[in-house]
Amino acid sequence: MSESNQLNTLNQQAVARYQNNFLKEVEDHVEEGQWVKMCMQCGVCAGSCPFGAHWEHSPQKLFMMIRAGKREEVLSTDSMWLCTSCYNCVVRCPRKLPITHIMHGLATYARRLGLVPKGQPTEEFATLFWNNLAKTGRINELKLTLGHYFKDGLISGIKTALGMQSIGIKMVLAKRLNPMEIFGGHGIKDLKGFQAIIAKAREIEDKKHGAAH
Ligand code: SF4
Ligand code: SF4
Repeated sequence: MSESNQLNTLNQQAVARYQNNFLKEVEDHVEEGQWVKMCMQCGVCAGSCPFGAHWEHSPQKLFMMIRAGKREEVLSTDSMWLCTSCYNCVVRCPRKLPITHIMHGLATYARRLGLVPKGQPTEEFATLFWNNLAKTGRINELKLTLGHYFKDGLISGIKTALGMQSIGIKMVLAKRLNPMEIFGGHGIKDLKGFQAIIAKAREIEDKKHGAAH
């Protein structure tokens, strides 16, 4: 089964299982989702968030929408992907909701179901970053940078790279970027151990927040 078919199936299974009870779905599958029902809609988080007017939906609004069963609108918005983890909302919420964690939990769940808006930059970069890191246990800055520049094709990659070349040269001179990393780069000593830890963490997460079970 292709990845997109698999995601589609996971989404349909979740819809069938929870029917109109989106709050319960969030409680079962989203990190700290059990807190959503505690929101008293005071609006302090919306007023405290540095994104303010730039949100499509503030945390306050998202929590209200979850309770109102607006499943598609919530999971397909990119609002939660804009959260910068500044924790302003968390320190001010009178109900002590772990808002930041819920925002990231909603983003992760939407990703598991394949509902993230296409080309969402935070999701794209996070995926690139993670795939780069998981390969050797260390970030290969050169490949990460090139992967980011060339994500939309050769021409736009060359244009971006040329536009950034003076910064790139300064980073090489300051030993912050090593051109030789293109040949594989350095990794950690116990890569197998690292991969076993990741596999176990994934298994635990799937059990806790799995999309279809
Ligand atoms: S500050 Fe807390 S209680 Fe108030 S709207 Fe935001 S999440 Fe809800
Ligand atoms: S942690 Fe995220 S949601 Fe909360 S105030 Fe900061 S950016 Fe906004």
